[in-house]
Amino acid sequence: MTDRLPDRLEAAVLHRIVIVGGGAAGLELATWLGDRFGRRGRARVTLVECARVHLWKPLLHAVAAGSLDASEHELDYLAQAHWHGFRYRFGEMIGLDRESKEVRLAATFDDEGRPITPERTIPYDTLVIAIGSITNDFGTPGVTQHAVPLETPVQAARFNRRVVNACIRAHAQEEPVRPGQLHIAIVGAGATGTELAAELHRTTREVVAYGLDRIDPERDIRILLIEAAGRILPGLPERISTATRRLLEDLGIQIRTGTPVAEITAEGVRLANGEFIASELVVWAAGVKAPDVLKNLDGLEVNRINQLVVHQTLQTTRDPDIFALGDCAACPRPGESTPVPPRAQAAHQQAAHMLKQIERRLRGEPLRPYVYRDFGSLVSLGQYSTVGNLMGFVIGRSILIEGLFARLMYRSLEALHERALHGTVRTGLGLLTRALSRRTGPQVKLH
Ligand SMILES: Cc1cc2nc3c(=O)[nH]c(=O)nc-3n(C[C@H](O)[C@H](O)[C@H](O)COP(=O)(O)OP(=O)(O)OC[C@H]3O[C@@H](n4cnc5c(N)ncnc54)[C@H](O)[C@@H]3O)c2cc1C
Repeated sequence: MTDRLPDRLEAAVLHRIVIVGGGAAGLELATWLGDRFGRRGRARVTLVECARVHLWKPLLHAVAAGSLDASEHELDYLAQAHWHGFRYRFGEMIGLDRESKEVRLAATFDDEGRPITPERTIPYDTLVIAIGSITNDFGTPGVTQHAVPLETPVQAARFNRRVVNACIRAHAQEEPVRPGQLHIAIVGAGATGTELAAELHRTTREVVAYGLDRIDPERDIRILLIEAAGRILPGLPERISTATRRLLEDLGIQIRTGTPVAEITAEGVRLANGEFIASELVVWAAGVKAPDVLKNLDGLEVNRINQLVVHQTLQTTRDPDIFALGDCAACPRPGESTPVPPRAQAAHQQAAHMLKQIERRLRGEPLRPYVYRDFGSLVSLGQYSTVGNLMGFVIGRSILIEGLFARLMYRSLEALHERALHGTVRTGLGLLTRALSRRTGPQVKLH
């Protein structure tokens, strides 16, 4: 099945821009393009996305810990498309035909297995692929079966339910807490794992404080952060890593660095040195790769972690009509050995650059190279603190920041994303509404 006839007639006059993946990069781009071209009938903008609602991924650790209610931050793709002049097509990209310029989507089904949409194709003149990244388990046995990844809101919410259930179970049982029970091992001490450890420390204590008085958090709940590299936050400057480690250890969070994981079992984590750590819950947050579908996308070039290799113009190396951005793209940085890092700020910058590229493309002008600007990195340790570094472009080096200022800067990254989707007024109203509802409800998700 392919798009209907009226769509084809419309396409005869309008340039068809198809964006696959409505995450940090893709949804901002679809919204801007819809406002600028779709609404005014200057191009036809289509977003293909395999989820029904959008949640900004850096919030997932807070959903997993229970400190954030996902429903307050979720955005319905169908509604966003209606408000901003683009078309939303629900489905997962499973293939591509570059000759006929069509993206192939899998059929979709509801929870009872009834079909929703058939397998179909979406034609394009310009294709932008922005399907993000998934967890990389590096082939470690047992990860798929026994560890929870944090890739989607559904996985994050499921993990949160498992944490709350574990507390209720331990409270209700006759016998004392078993070895490994109420222990949470987080594999990977990058920003995600580290932020999750700090949030979980607070929220598990809050859940217990709601009357689960047979659990003693200091004695029974154990949070362990396991990292293969020599220090936590290996991608960030060493002083941030040192400051964060001190703070986490003061809270009683245990940290093991330089310890690769060999296997995950139903009972816990086996380290490469043979040691076994019993753990009721294991989260896998160690490394990312791009989705496997990119490996065989009609001959487009990929690197060893499946990212589409692009030029600095964000065009894929083997097809100038296909662009890639965000985590799924390997975009070169002049003078650097590694590509642009998989971060929300890179996704945001590339979406803004891509908007201009499409404007130039439609005007028949030459495209310009994208240059990554690193504004620094921030790590939120929940209510305990926020630490990070900001790039001081004037003084030419990064500055360590901590506390309230760092927290405000951290929040501003999410506000930037929301502003791109809703504009300044709605973003301000949303922040206010959520702040008010937090004052009246529990500070932690209890179900
Ligand atoms: C828990 C967590 C915490 C993070 N914290 C931070 C942080 O604090 N700071 C920071 O800078 N970065 C952080 N990141 C990284 C940041 O979220 C990503 O760099 C950013 O979201 C990348 O944007 P993207 O648009 O490339 O991909 P995504 O935001 O992942 O969006 C990809 C979209 O594509 C869709 N999709 C996937 N496959 C298909 C398909 N085949 N067909 C159709 N649609 C598809 C997905 O459903 C998704 O909506 C964090 C990531 C995680 C997981």
